[in-house]
Amino acid sequence: MQTFNHFIDGRFQPASNGRTFEKRSPTDNQLMGQVAEGTQADIDAAVGAAREALHGDWGRIAVDRRIAMMHAVADGITRRFDDFVAAEEADTGQPHHVIAHAFVPRGAANFKIFADIVKNVPAESFVMDTPDGAGALNYALRKPKGVIAVISPWNAPLLLMTWKVGPALACGNTVVVKPSEETPATATLLGEVMNEVGVPKGVYNVVHGFGPDAAGEFLTRHEDVDAITFTGETATGTAIMKAAADGIRDVSFELGGKNAGIVFADCDFDATVEGIFRSAFMNTGQVCLGTERVYVERAIFDRFVAALKARCEGVTYGRPSDLGVNFGPLISQVHRRKVLSYYGKAMAEGATLITGGGVPDMPAELAGGSWIQPTIWTGLPETASVVREEIFGPCCHVRAFDGEEEVVRLANANRYGLSTTIWTENLKRAHRMAAAIDAGIAWVNSWFLRDLRTPFGGSKQSGIGREGGVHSLEFYTEMRNVCIKL
Ligand code: NAD
Repeated sequence: MQTFNHFIDGRFQPASNGRTFEKRSPTDNQLMGQVAEGTQADIDAAVGAAREALHGDWGRIAVDRRIAMMHAVADGITRRFDDFVAAEEADTGQPHHVIAHAFVPRGAANFKIFADIVKNVPAESFVMDTPDGAGALNYALRKPKGVIAVISPWNAPLLLMTWKVGPALACGNTVVVKPSEETPATATLLGEVMNEVGVPKGVYNVVHGFGPDAAGEFLTRHEDVDAITFTGETATGTAIMKAAADGIRDVSFELGGKNAGIVFADCDFDATVEGIFRSAFMNTGQVCLGTERVYVERAIFDRFVAALKARCEGVTYGRPSDLGVNFGPLISQVHRRKVLSYYGKAMAEGATLITGGGVPDMPAELAGGSWIQPTIWTGLPETASVVREEIFGPCCHVRAFDGEEEVVRLANANRYGLSTTIWTENLKRAHRMAAAIDAGIAWVNSWFLRDLRTPFGGSKQSGIGREGGVHSLEFYTEMRNVCIKL
């Protein structure tokens, strides 16, 4: 049995009132441990420690030293790679290969990439004329924004949290992280790494707990927080934006999606089936960038649906470390109830069920886990709730289309605009489509291929702002103009 305490001012500590909540395994629903339940006093202590560190060692540290420390954090994660993989597997129940090859390495990379960007990006300067002819020199200084609140979700806990913490610290800020209540493990483990590599106390703080009227909300409402970076549901983003309005705090939001995969008849068929399968079902469909709407050109529609069905029916369920397992459970029973309610709605709205639609038969020792079948529907109108709303489960609706114009209209008729995938061997068409679809990221013949130097974020109700590469500096620093009369 584990205890997940807060990490405040360099020390692991329980909640101020001693309260905890249960963390259960998604794989078998067994109790894994107790998590400290953050209070207003815990948030006050964490924000206070973060503010203190800004005025202390961290505020005075030379940039080179700070950059070196970020590399040391990345190396620290790599040194304890197996611990991070085991912690994330236990928290999420996802297969070993996803966590060990995609999610944990990205956790380390998030510290390195932004450290190098901070070190190498030049600041602008302008020489200006003055009436006396002497002239003046202007240059820009990038100053850290201050104490950053980081609020993160459960679907790729380490990757998504460090995607914020990496640039925030590299830019000289301090952070208070409120990880998802579902996945407390890796944020806690990162506290150990921070201490191991000598990051000053108060720079990285973690307070566990819930969102509304709890640790998350206390953090976003705290008057000594300078900016809030959030990844999660659009509805939560709305609540956080209201909280941020008091005190005019800046926000960066990465929110929900209902992403369209667009398959043309001239695609590389086998590679496309595999690509759509991954994008719809990896991480049991719990990926914001995942595909829940698939549009397939009519000429290959039947063949495509049959191939995707066969791929779904070949998945192997099981514990993360079991050999050959490629399909994990959903994060919790609560989330499974939500996804199953959509499985029910799809049928009530008249869908044709191609495969799945329920819960798989599992061996007795796993029967308590939040297992669910990968599911494909066809035949629904675009007005159906499973075609419009984000489900965040392993399911997609597949619809036939005729021509580019129709598919652009269908893909864009949604309030979200996070990502899209376009599958075609026609280069001109690929460029046309990438420009036409409302999305923050358009993948052509690929998915989840990420260069961390590129802008990342969502259009429409999928987010506010862009992070990644130099774009992260826009959010995590404040530009100051210095004007020197010569
Ligand atoms: P969620 O919005 O329910 O929770 C995210 C975090 O916000 C949690 O830590 C939660 O405790 C906290 N929270 C909830 N209410 C709050 C409040 N009122 N004030 C402050 N904090 C609050 O999201 P989730 O269910 O954990 O994650 C799934 C969602 O995240 C999906 O919608 C998915 O699309 C989205 N997501 C988006 C991206 C992206 O990059 N755009 C990436 C991953 C996940």
